[in-house]
Amino acid sequence: MSADEFSLIRQYFSDVGTTPPHLLIGIGDDAAILNTTPGYQLVVCMDTLIEGVHFPTGTAASDLAVKSLAVNLSDLAAMGAKPAWFQLSLTLPVADESWLAEFSAALKETADRYQIGLVGGDTCRGPLSITIQAAGLVTEDNYVTRSNAKSGDLIVVSGRLGDAALGLAGLQKKVTLSEALSHECRFRLNRPQPRLELTDFLRNYASSAIDISDGLVADLGHILEQSKVGAKLEQNLLPVNGWIKDQGQYHYALYGGDDYEICFTMPGDHLSQLEDWNSKNPECPLSVIGESVASGYTLDTGEGMKDLSADRGFKHFG
Ligand code: ADP
Ligand code: MG
Repeated sequence: MSADEFSLIRQYFSDVGTTPPHLLIGIGDDAAILNTTPGYQLVVCMDTLIEGVHFPTGTAASDLAVKSLAVNLSDLAAMGAKPAWFQLSLTLPVADESWLAEFSAALKETADRYQIGLVGGDTCRGPLSITIQAAGLVTEDNYVTRSNAKSGDLIVVSGRLGDAALGLAGLQKKVTLSEALSHECRFRLNRPQPRLELTDFLRNYASSAIDISDGLVADLGHILEQSKVGAKLEQNLLPVNGWIKDQGQYHYALYGGDDYEICFTMPGDHLSQLEDWNSKNPECPLSVIGESVASGYTLDTGEGMKDLSADRGFKHFG
C-alpha cells in the first residue's frame, strides 16, 4: 500500500464508530488485535454488496455505507448478538474523495448509532464492491440459531414486510405509487434498520430466528429445513402497507427481499411477553403470522390453501 492510500484510509476510516473496549491494536498495523472476553462467545458474519448485483449503478455512497453495515448488523441481531467490531473491504474504481467523504460520514453515523467500531479492512482498485465483516458478542451459549423451531411454535415477524421490494418496483417503474409511499419504500430499500433492539427478546423467548434478506418464504424456509418442521401461514396476518393490502399484492411481502426484518419462532406460552413488547415498542411491532407444524409449508390466502414448498426467493446460483 502506498503512503497516499494509507493517508486516505487514515482520513476516512481511522475513526469510525465506538472503539471496542477490548481493542488493543486498531487500524494502521498489519492486523488488528482484540482481547478475548472470558464468558463470552464471538459471533461473526460477512456480507458483500456488488454494483449491478446488489444495488443499481448510481446508488448514493451514503446509502451504500448504511446498507452494507446494516445488513451485517441484521445478521448479528438474528443470532441474538450485541455488536462489537467490524472490518471493511472496499473496492473502488477510483479514489474519489467526495464519494469517500460521503461514504465515511454515513458509515460513522451508523456505526455510532449501533455502538460498533471499525478495527480494520482492505482497500483495492476495481469494480465497486463493499464487503463488511462484523463481530458480535453473546454470553456463553446464549445465542439463537435457525435450527431449533418446534412444531406448535408461533411464527412471528418484526415490522412491515414488502416495503423494500415495492420501493425497488417503484424505482424500476413497474408500479406507480404516491410520492409519500414511494419515498417511504425507497428509504426502506436503501436504509434498512437492523433490529438490534430485539436481541434480548430473541435470546429470552425465541426458539429460532433469521433475518429476512431474500423474502419471507425463502428465509422462513431455511428455518423449516434446518429445524425439520413445517409451517402454516395466514396471509391476512402479514404486516404490510396499505397499498399492498388494498391491491392484494402480497407477493411483495412473501417473496420480496431486502426488508431486513426478523422472522422467528417462539413457544405459544410467551405470547403475553410479545403483547407486552408491542405495548412498549410501537417502532418495532411484532406480528404472529402463523404457526409451525409437523410438516408441509402452506399459506391460507383467505380463498384457499397455497403450497409454498416449491416457491423460492432470489437465488444467485441455479
Ligand atoms: P497493505 O496493503 O500494506 O497490507 P493493509 O491492507 O494491511 O496494507 O492496510 C493497512 C492498515 O489499514 C490495516 O490496519 C488495515 O486494517 C487498514 N485498512 C485498509 N483498508 C481499510 C479500510 N477500507 N477500512 C478500514 N481499515 C482499512
Ligand atoms: Mg493487507
